[in-house]
Amino acid sequence: MNHSRIDLSEFEIKQLARRFETRGVEEILEWAVARFSPSLAMTSNFGAEGVVVMDHLARVAPETPIIYLETGFQFPQTDELKERLRARYGLNIITHRAELSVEEQNRIHGERLYERDPDLCCRIRKIEPLAAALKGYDAWVAALRRDQSPTRANIGVVEWNARHNLVKINPLATWTRRRVWDYIVTNDLPYSPLYDDGYASIGCVPCTRRVMAGQHERSGRWDGEKKLECGIHL
Ligand code: SF4
Repeated sequence: MNHSRIDLSEFEIKQLARRFETRGVEEILEWAVARFSPSLAMTSNFGAEGVVVMDHLARVAPETPIIYLETGFQFPQTDELKERLRARYGLNIITHRAELSVEEQNRIHGERLYERDPDLCCRIRKIEPLAAALKGYDAWVAALRRDQSPTRANIGVVEWNARHNLVKINPLATWTRRRVWDYIVTNDLPYSPLYDDGYASIGCVPCTRRVMAGQHERSGRWDGEKKLECGIHL
């Protein structure tokens, strides 16, 4: 079956995934830009992995849109880092927001929806805005790693994303957390100060807590819930 708008069959996508499995981030991004730009976008909330991909993307194609979903519950440090990255690299960061403001959400669904129904809160503040933001793009770069969680263990470097009807590119799929931090330190990249304050994965303020030594890096997200993902990468 061909994905008509993109003109790549399932077989070709699998071949691409195999071809890029062992390639460097820059080479993967160079191919993605040559193949899909200007219908290529990255998404990021400026976590450590996103910063690593942006450092490469800035060398390859800094004009590539970087979609940031501002939930209204983000840490102020995330907004500060966004501006530091924009200033350092001249990135084309585009902020998208939910249709409902936090105040409207509170009025309709009650306050602290994230405690009572985090899936609905994520749907309103992340999943639906992402769907709107990705409309019209043929390919999407995300900074996921396979070893981040069981839900990410099988991601391909190149894969088809049926939900958004586009090609998803995960240039850090094979990277480990250690490798990400080695790269950040070696290259003196900016990163969120929250990592130095006990956080290992950074999302919205109400759904993110510090982790203890030895705990899994994503155990601080939706603590006490079965939820492992906000849903945008499922
Ligand atoms: S992570 Fe929490 S606050 Fe953010 S959108 Fe999801 S449920 Fe809402």
